[in-house]
Amino acid sequence: MISITLPDGSVREYDKGITSMQIALSISEGLARNVLAAEVNGEVWDASRPIEEDSSVKLLTWNDAKGKSTYWHSSAHLLAEALEALYPGTKFGIGPAIETGFYYDVDFGDTTISSDDFKKIEDKVIELAKTKSEYIRKPVSKADAIAYFTDKGDEYKLDLIKDLPDGGITFYTQGNFTDLCRGPHIPNTGAIKAVKLMSVAGAYWRGDESRKQLTRIYGVTFPKASELTDYLHLIEEAKKRDHRKLGKELELFAFSEKVGMGLPLWLPKGTALRERLTNFLQKAQVKSGYEQVITPHIGHKNLYVTSGHYEKYGADSFQPIKTPQEGEEFFLKPMNCPHHCEIYKTKPRSYKDLPVRLAEFGTVYRYEQSGELHGLTRVRGFTQDDAHLFCRPDQVKEEFKKVIDLVLYVFGALGFDNYTAQVSLRDPNNKTKYIGTDDNWALAESAIIEAAAEKNLPTVVEYGEAAFYGPKLDFMVKDALGRKWQLGTIQVDYNLPERFELEYTGSDNQKHRPVMIHRAPFGSLERFVAVLIEHCAGNFPLWLSPEQFIILPISEKYEEYAKKLSDELKDSDICGLIDFRDEKIGRKIRDAEVKKIPYMLIVGEKEAAEGLVSVRKHGTGDLGSMSIEEFKQQIIKEITV
Ligand SMILES: [Zn+2]
Ligand SMILES: [Zn+2]
Repeated sequence: MISITLPDGSVREYDKGITSMQIALSISEGLARNVLAAEVNGEVWDASRPIEEDSSVKLLTWNDAKGKSTYWHSSAHLLAEALEALYPGTKFGIGPAIETGFYYDVDFGDTTISSDDFKKIEDKVIELAKTKSEYIRKPVSKADAIAYFTDKGDEYKLDLIKDLPDGGITFYTQGNFTDLCRGPHIPNTGAIKAVKLMSVAGAYWRGDESRKQLTRIYGVTFPKASELTDYLHLIEEAKKRDHRKLGKELELFAFSEKVGMGLPLWLPKGTALRERLTNFLQKAQVKSGYEQVITPHIGHKNLYVTSGHYEKYGADSFQPIKTPQEGEEFFLKPMNCPHHCEIYKTKPRSYKDLPVRLAEFGTVYRYEQSGELHGLTRVRGFTQDDAHLFCRPDQVKEEFKKVIDLVLYVFGALGFDNYTAQVSLRDPNNKTKYIGTDDNWALAESAIIEAAAEKNLPTVVEYGEAAFYGPKLDFMVKDALGRKWQLGTIQVDYNLPERFELEYTGSDNQKHRPVMIHRAPFGSLERFVAVLIEHCAGNFPLWLSPEQFIILPISEKYEEYAKKLSDELKDSDICGLIDFRDEKIGRKIRDAEVKKIPYMLIVGEKEAAEGLVSVRKHGTGDLGSMSIEEFKQQIIKEITV
């Protein structure tokens, strides 16, 4: 007998050679129907693979990320089988799962495949799926593997086999298709109920431009047809909300090749939005005891030699800026921390002065390959809502709690009510990888866990995910479409205080090292604005809207009245504009709707005579007429966050 430990900690006894599927069956038939694979001692296995020794087993279903990726990778095999059936002689490269779905790199010989062929291929995939063919694992010798693919004439598989050690090679067969694969796979093709091929693209074999270009077919599969429908709907909705599209339509930001790729230009409306965000955070930070600082956009090479960034990232960063005379080297600032360390050092600090909290909306520059750039989410220059907290080791927990409060305050004000946090701790079996004493790590790790628990933060703990210089807490938010984004982060650092020889005088009159905490509730303004645009589909909360109202005079005659109203609103810090165009009122309303301006104030003869405004709210409709004072009060109430 062997002992199997399940995730809930329960231990069950089974015969040696039991499979995960049989374990699932012994628990419930319903569960067994949903099992796609199993994690055995941390490694994902086929559910049909015999377990020979005491093990911990986690059954994987569609609801587990690893279950899903096994499912999608297995779908890639099925796609290959369909392609081989439809296009005999096709040769196959690799077919991995990706974040959503899978792809297969294929050499079709002289045949060209386009999206016109998708329907035919999808139908074949479903036809084959219905045969419920098992994925059968078979270890093969290197010689047999080579013989099989030589006979088949697939040079790509032969190229892969070349690098594999004899003894570790396995084949998987489902239906009429055999692939070279390490696995694991789902039990049989029957679980694949819906398929959609998403796109075709060219892909060089092994990513090498000097080698042959294969056809990459992207697809996605689901265990239920309704899930595919939901997924396609989500994609449509995401396209409509794409921040690159809305950023252009709402005139928030732009890019110019002349200025340089990945360097966003904030247009007036985007700048207004961004300034409101920074003012909002700055106000909250002042209340929490932060002090604002400003540091330059470049730093001397020696600064980054001291911080360690030069050694670690120097070669992959923007290359140095040199002075003409002295030949000194400066780097564009990749992060604000080294500058802040130097600010900390400008005067002696006592234990009573701590924590010192230095905040800066600091713009940093990091080299990203051009192919990696994406709207505002992957850029080469961005502004962090950065701050560094220098504190005593015994203050770490209190500081974490305060930062968590701040982050949740920010999320609340912006309508992100679905979030989790990941606590990243050190790998307990590999402590030498990390800098800092055992005592300090123990203190900081328990401080983070306790602070998160006391703040009722839903958390997952990941061992081995900490940076080499300290543990951290990352916030993940789910947007309105259910997509996850990593935003705010809080990170303990034992490294920089050491490298910069930061000190404070303790109550014992001795010198001590402070602990440094990096934190950024937004992450960066660029990324945050991108996520916010997609989350609210461009309908910003009123307090953030660059234009809160637009006055629509019915004709030229009421322009004077419109100007008077506008001035009155502006005096109360409510901003907006007047549509002076010589257009019909219906057209003016439609255009204002497109621009997603929260309030439209329509003024005509009746309004001007009685000192009123007719109010329309974006997305809601007609609110009737009211005095300007009433309207102002309503806005002020809505803006107060
Ligand atoms: Zn496989
Ligand atoms: Zn930092």
